[in-house]
Amino acid sequence: MNALLTPWTTEFGLPPFAAISDTDFAPAFDAALAEARAHIAAIAGQAEAPDFANTIEALELAEALLDRVSGVFYNLAGADSTEAREALQRDLAPKMSAFASEVTNNAALFGRIEALWQGRDGLGLSLEQLRVLTLYRQMFVRSGALLQGDQAARLTAVKSRLAVLGTQFSQNLLADERAWFMELSEADLEGLPDFVVASARTAGVEKGVAGPVVTLSRSLIVPFLQFSPRRALRQKAFEAWGLRGANGGATDNRGVAAEILALRAERAQLLGYASFADYKLEPEMAKTPAAVRELLMRVWAPAKRKAMADAAVLEAMLHADGIAGPLEPWDWRYYSEKRRLAEHDLDEAALKPYLSLDAMLAAQFDCANRLFGLEFRALDTPLYHADARAWEVTRRGAHVAVFIGDYFARGSKRSGAWCSAMRSQRKLGGEQSPIVVNVCNFAKGDPALLSYDDARTLFHEFGHALHQMLSNVTYGFISGTSVARDFVELPSQLYEHWLEVPEVLEKHARHWQSGAAMPADMLQRLLAAGTYDQGFATVEFIGSALVDLAFHEGAAPADPMQKQAEVLEAIGMPRAIRMRHATPHFAHVFSGDGYSSGYYSYMWSEVMDADAFAAFEEAGDAFDPEVAARLEQFILSAGGSEEPDQLYTKFRGKMPGVEPLLKGRGLLEEV
Ligand SMILES: [Zn+2]
Repeated sequence: MNALLTPWTTEFGLPPFAAISDTDFAPAFDAALAEARAHIAAIAGQAEAPDFANTIEALELAEALLDRVSGVFYNLAGADSTEAREALQRDLAPKMSAFASEVTNNAALFGRIEALWQGRDGLGLSLEQLRVLTLYRQMFVRSGALLQGDQAARLTAVKSRLAVLGTQFSQNLLADERAWFMELSEADLEGLPDFVVASARTAGVEKGVAGPVVTLSRSLIVPFLQFSPRRALRQKAFEAWGLRGANGGATDNRGVAAEILALRAERAQLLGYASFADYKLEPEMAKTPAAVRELLMRVWAPAKRKAMADAAVLEAMLHADGIAGPLEPWDWRYYSEKRRLAEHDLDEAALKPYLSLDAMLAAQFDCANRLFGLEFRALDTPLYHADARAWEVTRRGAHVAVFIGDYFARGSKRSGAWCSAMRSQRKLGGEQSPIVVNVCNFAKGDPALLSYDDARTLFHEFGHALHQMLSNVTYGFISGTSVARDFVELPSQLYEHWLEVPEVLEKHARHWQSGAAMPADMLQRLLAAGTYDQGFATVEFIGSALVDLAFHEGAAPADPMQKQAEVLEAIGMPRAIRMRHATPHFAHVFSGDGYSSGYYSYMWSEVMDADAFAAFEEAGDAFDPEVAARLEQFILSAGGSEEPDQLYTKFRGKMPGVEPLLKGRGLLEEV
């Protein structure tokens, strides 16, 4: 009996994790793919003339079992990988890609969709239905439905190879992240706050060595670089961090990246686009590479000016320590932390006891309660890992969603933080409520204490979760976060703003031992420090975004590392700041298509989130019920039911400009 294929009678229809074994997945995928193929064939081959119900709505439900199996598997593969799951993921990549191509290459099916689209004005469709039809047709055309013969076959081969390479890129990166660690002597712990020492010791146990270690987990290496006075160790760790995916041998990603870029360029050319970036940006809010570059460069100049001024201050501190020569990238975080202490007197180590994970979870839930009336009740239910926790989400007593939080770093989890839906909201075929997962990589502790950055990440991912949980659409195709890439970060980045509302931290940031509220002056300093080092953060981000854009505009570079160097040279990247993600570990761009020529979208969304939060400020209340209701109606519940610029304009009454972002990041200050 394969638990993935039988009906789930669990509470809220949660996957019965305990009954699912790794060996169930391969046969479940085979069965689900076979079922989906049978449904697609029946839709394409039916005798009846095409109508919206027998074609589009039937397609919406054709892959229900595949969605269910995928929802469980891909969550586990990212959050709790094993060798068996990795092997299966490798096997599945070409199979899933082949299936997707089969659907979009199905000429009879496309014929039905095209007929509907051509006759759309006479179908009496709702706005949502028209949008879904338009997006289906666009998906088919962009997948090559209009191509014939050799060209169609070549496109299928290219896409299939790209899927394999994307998985390989991720797995190489994970292997490099796991393989490297640096043992620390007791003397090497000098200057490190207790929480860094504790996570270094925990990491040592995980790596099977007696003493503490530094690993390449962001939650450990970043504080190590901030606090360790041992410059040689910082350099060693920083360089290892920068070399992920570029260590030579079987896990080197440089050749993988070059092949991916060449194949993407070929794909765009087959489909009739000037470049992969033109192809990729067509369905986005930005629309063109020129619009992206214009936005990035408007932010670049003030950001670089600020970063260069900051670099001069930090370099003077380096020299004051008796070290000659220029400020290096492994020095930035260390001296920046010292400067933060001196100028803002904000001691991360003293701050963390007020930011326990439980307190910050209470804060994120409380904000969602005040804004949208959501309530959260902890569930005692078995999940896929002992560290994962679940809550039932309700409103006025009615079930809304199940929310799962999986917060601690472990070797089996890929790095970073993300939100995924094990099950997405839709109404077609019976109301389906979402099961939404937030995965983070916070250092485990007893209790777990967060940095302020971690707390922002928590709120960020929860903003995505709200976009899924409050989704209120008929069709799964446009549900929740199924929106344009440069629109999808709006809810998440917007939600971060509530962490900066003073009354939120006043209420929730309490010392985990004494329960005391955060001292008022600490809170004030924390909020004032919000714009601290934003020159650095903006520069490292835009560096990555411009390299991503350059990779996909025009001909593919034969040597991506050379291209990367040229782009950074051309913009005059400050020497002490590296790209936030260098090419060999730029998973956003190479692990899949998602953020390729789309990394800019975080900043595009930030322009919007700064402007959107200003709507609450203008109302004089961060929890203004009327603005919150508009936010839910036009953004959080609307999914992709309309063009993003239309949704935004309905919420705000206008399109956003770049000034609120520059102001919010403190980049307009005199330097
Ligand atoms: Zn995000």
